[in-house]
Amino acid sequence: MRKPLMRIPYTDLLPSPTIHPPSATSLSGAVSALQNFFSAPPPRGLPPSTVVLTGAGLSVASGLADYRGVNGTYRVNKTYRPIYYHEFLENHEARKRYWARSFLGWTTLAKAKPNAGHYAVRDLRELGVVSRVITQNVDSFHPRAHPRIPTLELHGYLRATNELARLNPAWADFLREVIASGALETEDPDERRRRGIRTNPDGDVDLPDAPYTTFRYPACPTCLASPPRLADGSQVRVEVDGEGAWKKPSSGGILKPAVVMFGESIPSGVKHAVEEAIDGAGRLLVLGTSLATYSAWRLAKRAKDRGMPIAIVNVGGVRGEEAFFTDLDPNQTGTQGVRAEASIQELLPALVDVMQRSTPKRGQEQSPAILHQPDGASVFKDMMS
Ligand SMILES: [Zn+2]
Repeated sequence: MRKPLMRIPYTDLLPSPTIHPPSATSLSGAVSALQNFFSAPPPRGLPPSTVVLTGAGLSVASGLADYRGVNGTYRVNKTYRPIYYHEFLENHEARKRYWARSFLGWTTLAKAKPNAGHYAVRDLRELGVVSRVITQNVDSFHPRAHPRIPTLELHGYLRATNELARLNPAWADFLREVIASGALETEDPDERRRRGIRTNPDGDVDLPDAPYTTFRYPACPTCLASPPRLADGSQVRVEVDGEGAWKKPSSGGILKPAVVMFGESIPSGVKHAVEEAIDGAGRLLVLGTSLATYSAWRLAKRAKDRGMPIAIVNVGGVRGEEAFFTDLDPNQTGTQGVRAEASIQELLPALVDVMQRSTPKRGQEQSPAILHQPDGASVFKDMMS
């Protein structure tokens, strides 16, 4: 069987969700359902912890645009098409365009901050229910909002660099002008468009008629210092101009951001780590993703196959979601699964609030060591007395 390509957008229209349990249609109903989801003991043999899987929908409230609207269409920029891995490898012009758009987009990314949804995930860890996070986002908001929860960045990450500004002084000037125009000050996509700027969640900015062909990007410093050999024994040629920008006729040394591109396989280390994160938990909470990419969808499928209860909070349909809920008892209250269509930034903090109030404060709480004293310890105590 042919392996499906990773991160290819799933373009079919996704049907509207069926809410589970039906009471989760309202905000308070969804809070109760999630509270039941977290307080129910996990099915036999599964650990009591929860792994969280997030996507672009969680970062929308941070001012980063979502890829798709409720109908599964690209709502921010109709002409937007992500770069594919093979294009990046093969085409110098495509790389210039990619780096130029990223350079401009990073300003938006650097300015944006984690939101209430990310901090609620941190609080769910303090409440003892969340143990790990897997994210498809490349914005690094999870590690910033909750450095104590291990976070796996399924599609890599973007970190800004001064190197591009140094190689592209005219672009850096242009960027300063764009910032001065205020186009990046507003989070309102319509207002931004009026000022001539469009942004996408990968940190991309689209500028009409921008001269991408003038953009310069650095060579890989490692390959430049010691060019690797190809399988046939020949040495890779890495050439740079006077300032260190990659140039033709180099046959390698292409610097690639630590982002997994469309059509590129996820590194096997990351693939195994996310599988282990699923296998090490007893529940899955999915936030702000339509699971349109195969790499994310297969993790939810894996959780389902392991018998893990699944809760999904996403505005709009989720790929193949009926399969995740089809075997639920129609009278269950959230203990077997939850499907809610609510704002994560409203729902999760409300849930945290309710859970904090129903959890005894530390200090008033009896020590778990006293509550669950192992038999052996009592025997030992008896022998001592
Ligand atoms: Zn290299």
